[in-house]
Amino acid sequence: MAAPSARRGFSLPEDCIFCKIVRGDAPANIVNRAEGFVAIEDIAPKADVHLLVIPERHIETFRDVGELSESEAKRMLDFVAETARKAGLDEYRLMIFVGAGAGQTVFHLHWHILGGVIHGMPR
Ligand code: 5GP
Ligand code: ZN
Repeated sequence: MAAPSARRGFSLPEDCIFCKIVRGDAPANIVNRAEGFVAIEDIAPKADVHLLVIPERHIETFRDVGELSESEAKRMLDFVAETARKAGLDEYRLMIFVGAGAGQTVFHLHWHILGGVIHGMPR
């Protein structure tokens, strides 16, 4: 378990790419941000619009979504919808891969927002 961050008061594992992006220690095209959540463009887009919604807090997988409080979970859903709307999407797909066997490659909870033509499976 990593030491809690003095700045944020929760652990941000040093080796997690999404934690680095949240901290500003790795580059990303940020398209939306609200307290506790960030949305970025996927580095290898599999659709005309391919965004990732990431809670700032390091939660390994959707299986552990119960680590979010009720209000955080509600705000996350609102943030997903707001991010899609701000990206100009009215119709889109949401995907979450839960576990390596289901295709999860980054072990920090994230939602895929896929809009327009889909070119492949996010991986
Ligand atoms: P998963 O298969 O875990 O659901 O998807 C991980 C996603 O994160 C993939 O679509 C992959 O292209 C994206 N990704 C991996 N590393 C980076 C990165 O450093 N920056 C950005 N913007 N996206 C990343
Ligand atoms: Zn992380």
